[in-house]
Amino acid sequence: MSTRNTIEVAIEGGRRATAAPAAPLVWKFGGTSVADHDRLRAVAERMVAAQRSGRGVVAVLSAMGKSTDKLVDQAYAMSSRPPLRELDALLSVGESISCALASIAVAELGSHAVSLTGPQAGIGTDARHGNARLVGIEPHRIHEALADGAIVLVTGFQGIAPDGDVTTLGRGGSDASAVAVAAALDAGECEIFTDVPAVFTADPRVVPDARRLSSIRHEEMLEMAEAGAAVLQPRSVELALAHGVDIHLRSSFSTEEGTWIRREAAGFEGTAEVAGIAHRREESLFAVDGAGAGVVAAALAERAITVGAIVPTTSGVQFTAPGADPVEVTAALDAVDLAAKVDEDLGSVSVVSLGMARKPDIPVRALAALEAGGIPPRLVTTTPGRITVAVSSSRVDDAVRLLHQTFIPAAGSATVSDLHSPADAA
Ligand code: ASP
Ligand code: MG
Repeated sequence: MSTRNTIEVAIEGGRRATAAPAAPLVWKFGGTSVADHDRLRAVAERMVAAQRSGRGVVAVLSAMGKSTDKLVDQAYAMSSRPPLRELDALLSVGESISCALASIAVAELGSHAVSLTGPQAGIGTDARHGNARLVGIEPHRIHEALADGAIVLVTGFQGIAPDGDVTTLGRGGSDASAVAVAAALDAGECEIFTDVPAVFTADPRVVPDARRLSSIRHEEMLEMAEAGAAVLQPRSVELALAHGVDIHLRSSFSTEEGTWIRREAAGFEGTAEVAGIAHRREESLFAVDGAGAGVVAAALAERAITVGAIVPTTSGVQFTAPGADPVEVTAALDAVDLAAKVDEDLGSVSVVSLGMARKPDIPVRALAALEAGGIPPRLVTTTPGRITVAVSSSRVDDAVRLLHQTFIPAAGSATVSDLHSPADAA
């Protein structure tokens, strides 16, 4: 990713000098935060206020509300197998609309904004349509617009392939766009405005007394996101970790602080035993006869699907593909003439804790809690950052509550609350 530490500025008398610009604010607004004209106006007001207080503002926007879903539906109304290149041409339009409308709203407030598409903003990707990977950003147009005094609106989700075609970064990809833009501008941090106020120790809709985190490490957030916490796209956290970008996840509906995802979470020092409990409601277990693990993994990889656990059986293999659509998995196998039996009645619950290899008690306590709650584990996997237990779909919520109760101290007691409190930052 290109970095650029100085920009040329015109000074009086027409001479040019080089000055180190203050890093701009890099913000991202998700779909609900730009869902309608009033919300777009509120976003415009927030940007104009920040700019009037003297900061450069670059905002990455998602498509309005559920508009990407509607575009997907339209494509599938035309064909059951829309060409991926054309799907990208269609889906990328949602973000362009948001940026152009926000720019118009800024103009209405008497300020100046410039909307840039992914290609215009120099967001380079590979050519994998539908799930492209960022390869680098050439942000000279962003720098120029900032130097011009404009608020810069960059479409999330979009990039440009080496052949010049527009690509998209996979669903939820605007988070990754925002982190990448922050990295390319050396902004150091990126604020992601969303419809939840913070990251919690579990989904507060499932666990009403889940604890609100003032900070969490990138590594922990990545595990939470990979295990199903939908608050951030996992790829964006990976990018933030790789490029040293702190993320401030906060509500677009208020001015209060949310959760900082940062390299050194205040006072943490690896002592918070468990960062949180994540879950995924839809998980599947696939069984394939007459094929080995390697063949199955290769067939899935052809469609950019990653296997979770693979267990050889007497007749073939059983496997999971966390986060993948079972229809896609079946299609990937079908392409190599394999058929799968699919058990879709599964979900998963994960206890996120870095350094699991040195914490043998965590699986013991997790499994004991589930057993005591009458929830049989269907498959158990551990990684260096979490233990994930597949359970029947109907028991996912119960499992989340049980594990939260087991591992996260209640409000008022010591440890996690102290470790996560902003006072520790002092
Ligand atoms: N609009 C895209 C989606 O709905 C990208 C994003 O919002 O992050 O997946
Ligand atoms: Mg999102």
